[in-house]
Amino acid sequence: MHRIIPGLYTFTGLPVGRVYLITEGEGLTLIDASVSFAAGTILRQITKLGFAPSDVRRILITHAHPDHVGALAALVDATGAEVWSSRLERPVIEGAIPVPMPPLDDLRGVARLMRPGQTFFPRVAVARELHDGEMLPEVFGGLQVIATPGHAPGHLAFWHAEQRVIIMGDVIMNFPPRMRLPFAAFTYDMAENIRSLGRVVRLAPQIACFGHGKPITVNTTERIGAFARKMGAA
Ligand SMILES: [Zn+2]
Repeated sequence: MHRIIPGLYTFTGLPVGRVYLITEGEGLTLIDASVSFAAGTILRQITKLGFAPSDVRRILITHAHPDHVGALAALVDATGAEVWSSRLERPVIEGAIPVPMPPLDDLRGVARLMRPGQTFFPRVAVARELHDGEMLPEVFGGLQVIATPGHAPGHLAFWHAEQRVIIMGDVIMNFPPRMRLPFAAFTYDMAENIRSLGRVVRLAPQIACFGHGKPITVNTTERIGAFARKMGAA
């Protein structure tokens, strides 16, 4: 377990799909649920920090892709937590529709070959739909929902204004030495994702937390801003 700032942690040893834990607020909050076999690692690290699985009250989902909701069913079983997601990601999480994929005509070269076929998730009920701009006072004394569509139609980021922390899912992936856009083969609408990136930069975050790669805590707005300009977002 790695502490980013007091009250905000990220799990270690997960193969893919970063998960965050917020310990400030009413009970514990998880953000995203990694791949299907990650549940044991996540639960062990929560216990090691001195909490019980039943202290997890809610699991917020940035987007319904296999590396972000894979362990969701197991985590809900183990914790009894509620699942909160956007309206558009809800039917994917609930197994009613497959994961929306980019149109094949939008993809070139290897991305065309990499685009997965239909993926359905096992049914997990979403207890609460989150909307753009909504404030969640139960989490970290006030976490704000920021719609960041593109990588997935109902992709969300979460913004903590007081500490200037953005938890942005897959709007950007941070693979040092550089940032990159999410893989085209799994990105529903890249042009919209780049517009969402511009929205994240305008918040001027001090700490950026990604769905893939390590958080950035130094010169964050400058670094993300420079990347966004290169991608034509600003
Ligand atoms: Zn991802």
